[in-house]
Amino acid sequence: MSEFEVITLGVGDAFSEIHRPTALLLISDGFHLAIDCPDMYRAVLKDAAGRSGRPIDLTKIDHFLITHIHGDHMNGLEGVAFFKHFAENKRVQLLSVPEVREVIWSERLKGSMEQLWNGKEYRSLTFDDYFMFTPLDWGSITNIGPFHIQVRRTKHHIPTCAVRIIAKGRVLGYSCDTAFDPELIQFLEPAHLIIHETNLGPAHTDYTSLAALPADLRERMRLIHYPDTFNSKTSTIQVMNEGEVLHV
Ligand SMILES: [Zn+2]
Repeated sequence: MSEFEVITLGVGDAFSEIHRPTALLLISDGFHLAIDCPDMYRAVLKDAAGRSGRPIDLTKIDHFLITHIHGDHMNGLEGVAFFKHFAENKRVQLLSVPEVREVIWSERLKGSMEQLWNGKEYRSLTFDDYFMFTPLDWGSITNIGPFHIQVRRTKHHIPTCAVRIIAKGRVLGYSCDTAFDPELIQFLEPAHLIIHETNLGPAHTDYTSLAALPADLRERMRLIHYPDTFNSKTSTIQVMNEGEVLHV
């Protein structure tokens, strides 16, 4: 068994009727690192466990890297943090770039999480009651368990990071949400496995730009975050499928 695996939790976009939103689970040396956290996260894990034949559940995952605060990438975080708080008496190990940390509590989570009632009285809580934070600083490498993580800003509506993640000398590159960007392709190019998004609109990457890349690059590339209408049969780059386990 490879020592750096990617379990495909979801491959769809925010509008999909047939797919879970795009999310990955990286495993090396038994250490789990979740990339993004869509809605109904425990159901997402259960689906992927069923499809992959792997025993995956939330009690094994403490580390979450959130690439940006669009809902399809982080709507599950509130439920995960409540689960860790109430069911496991733990905090979520949260990793993000500084721009995401700046707003993830104050503009996404605070309203529903800052107050708890114990049946008699209300208690005020803060970000630090639910989360342990590790910043992913632009231009430096962050080490978490067996993973070494580099981030790069993408071309998207709001601050978003692509990642290059190394474990066991193997390199995963993931574009996250982005318009087509030749400089980002250069950042991802050294990876043994490149996961790239494709979708519609100015803030996403059109398939034709990726199809025009050199063959040796396309052979190491897999597509994710594709629309329901995407024709995987005619695509010259293989799509990822939910529950699929990739070896980096
Ligand atoms: Zn997005």
